[in-house]
Amino acid sequence: MTAKIIDGKTIAADLRTAVKAETHRLTSEHGMVPGLAVVLVGDNAASKSYVTSKSRAVVEVGMRPFDYHWPADTTEAELIALVQKLNADPAVQGILVQLPLPPQINPARIIASITPDKDVDGFHPINAGRLMTGLPTLMPCTPIACIKLIKSVHPSLLGLDVLMVGRSHIVGNPLSQILLNENATVTVAHTHTRHLQELCRRAEILCVAIGSAEFVRGDWIKPGATVIDVGINRVNHGGKSHIVGDVNYAEAVKVAGAITPVPGGVGPMTIVCLLVNTLRAAYMQAGLPPPSV
Ligand code: NDP
Repeated sequence: MTAKIIDGKTIAADLRTAVKAETHRLTSEHGMVPGLAVVLVGDNAASKSYVTSKSRAVVEVGMRPFDYHWPADTTEAELIALVQKLNADPAVQGILVQLPLPPQINPARIIASITPDKDVDGFHPINAGRLMTGLPTLMPCTPIACIKLIKSVHPSLLGLDVLMVGRSHIVGNPLSQILLNENATVTVAHTHTRHLQELCRRAEILCVAIGSAEFVRGDWIKPGATVIDVGINRVNHGGKSHIVGDVNYAEAVKVAGAITPVPGGVGPMTIVCLLVNTLRAAYMQAGLPPPSV
């Protein structure tokens, strides 16, 4: 048996087309161009590359980017002042402060200073609380990407056994809450979990977000299960550097029913989900019902 490959690139392209159409509708019917402010502090190479792709993606769907690249010695007070300016700017519907931040800046204070309705990363404690209590909210982008990929295989999650390996505030925690809100039966595993392999073997849907290259082996997977691999790990094989997930793909693809590849699975979806959040934020700020993208 070979698993169905959950093609994140194709699903992301379809979603991008839908976002573009809804952006166009907002502009043509209501005269509003959604604006996304992307704030980068310092010169982290990976962060620079992420923010460049995000700004490009924003333009491609007809939204307006507002890019801020500030020096590494920016103070916390200066950054909070920028966020407050963006909070008050009616041309800006979404604010994203790229993490990590330099050591003199406390990321939790910055996240808390973003107005929750413009928090397109979905990291603000108020948005986390809304997710927890089942209220409409802006959710973090990677978990949205994962749930959309899961739903491409399982339109209903009612009663399904899901194992979420990892409990970070960016991926594991919010994704497990989204899965619970979808009526799945969710188990969350972390570094103190005992019998991880047995838990994996019971899962009908296995989501892994731990940051450990090819950690989950093929014989840990229930035959026919759906595997969502969030991991992005750079490894060196035979002097060549490449990216692998948290799941041993070559083994897993022979056992799973469906699986996301790395690269080409969750990664391409995540950035489009940022556009989804910006669009939703714009509709909500205009007092309109959010589109069903
Ligand atoms: P974190 O390091 O913040 O969290 C890792 C989580 O995994 C922790 O909860 C940790 O447990 C748990 N964990 C680590 N090792 C094990 C283990 N051996 N067994 C069980 N649990 C374990 O990572 P992130 O959530 O930010 O990212 C996870 C991965 O996803 C990374 O590879 C990252 O690059 C990737 N990623 C990909 C994105 C995408 O768009 N595709 C976006 C974001 C992240 P504990 O809490 O006990 O420490």
